[in-house]
Amino acid sequence: MGSMTFHPEDPYHAFITTVRDPEYTEGPLSGVPVAIKDNISTSGIETTCGSAILRGYIPPYDAHVITLLRRAGAAIVGKTNMDEFGMGTTTESSAFGPTTNPNDSSRVPGGSSGGSAAAVAAGMVPYALGSDTGGSIRCPASFCGIVGLKPSYGRVSRFGLIAYANSLEQIGPMARDVSGVSRIFSVIAGHDPRDATSADRPYNHEPDSDVMDGLKIGIPDEYFGEGVDPAVRETVTGALDICSSMGAELIPCRMPSMQYSLAAYYVICTSEASSNLARFDGIRYGPAVNTKKRWHDAFSDYRHDHFGKEVRRRIMLGTFALSEGYYGRYYQKAQAARRMVREDFRRILTQVDIIAGPTMPTIAYRLGEKTKDPLQMYLADILTVPANLAGVPAISVPCGMIEKMPVGFQIMGSNFHEEAIIDAAYAFEQEMKHGR
Ligand code: GLN
Repeated sequence: MGSMTFHPEDPYHAFITTVRDPEYTEGPLSGVPVAIKDNISTSGIETTCGSAILRGYIPPYDAHVITLLRRAGAAIVGKTNMDEFGMGTTTESSAFGPTTNPNDSSRVPGGSSGGSAAAVAAGMVPYALGSDTGGSIRCPASFCGIVGLKPSYGRVSRFGLIAYANSLEQIGPMARDVSGVSRIFSVIAGHDPRDATSADRPYNHEPDSDVMDGLKIGIPDEYFGEGVDPAVRETVTGALDICSSMGAELIPCRMPSMQYSLAAYYVICTSEASSNLARFDGIRYGPAVNTKKRWHDAFSDYRHDHFGKEVRRRIMLGTFALSEGYYGRYYQKAQAARRMVREDFRRILTQVDIIAGPTMPTIAYRLGEKTKDPLQMYLADILTVPANLAGVPAISVPCGMIEKMPVGFQIMGSNFHEEAIIDAAYAFEQEMKHGR
């Protein structure tokens, strides 16, 4: 906590950079403040990815989602704190110090989009953008008690998102309620020729709360298994009972690939990261490199000095997984496991409309609780990474409290069927608010 900067206007340290007198235009979001995760490029506004290596980097262009938000009239009010390059589950790996949880400032907000979640939860902004590679929108939404959507892979352009693991990640909206998420999603979804994986799937939808009756909800056993806190299990079971009382049909199912998904995720994300992060060499941006040293020494000393520990760990893991002789043993195995995860989703989603379970296995940790043991930190992603491996959409919506801390209810659906999970989340939210 020593390195944490404290501003009276930002008591949770949600922001790395704030914009004074932000510009905005006329449009459906005229003047509405939106906070942006600091790995999304904003023309003229410093963009650091929570890393010392990008300190002082001012992008010369806007990410596609920023162009769309500005076109809709939104005011970009600042860049939010995050785990360095998105690598983490608590926002503690930021080079700028941690963000704290507005529900209890001795706890983490979740990560890696922890600053975005805290800014929304604290009421500083109504909307924020996050990015989700393995849970980074849904985890902090769950820990802070807000709503967060990870869109289907390809539904939102990644142009201008500084890549961590391209095949897994999506930019998505965070807001205090489901209609807020839906509103921002309608602005950012749709085709962009500058992202080769972008799909022509715009989103124009008003959330409909009249969908629970007859809805088939798949409940994978694995989402309630070992490692999931019994109190979380109980709270989410309560949420499912509410759905059932509204007429939904709860259908138990199995997701056998779950036993491989975390391992597959960590091989794939570190492999992609090791290649993506090779570009940070101190030549073009960030603190100056010492050019008097031999190139090899200058390069490796620079990366050692300016990348944090977790980022270096992942670059090494990924480089190892891709190296000759190990590629088949790790990377290709991980890709095979990924296909099993996809197949599980495909099979289950032919029998049910949506899949539901907890977002996170626990409530928010205390600051420092998980930082000593990276493996413990990785295990926390077990319930969120399957949706990224499969590319399917997933939303986290608050469903109750444990020890005065929020619990997230996760709803996943078929590819490009955000409408279905948004409607289900909306129906559930309305029932929680007004129904009982
Ligand atoms: N916690 C996961 C990781 O560290 C997910 C991060 C993310 O979605 N960016 O990789």
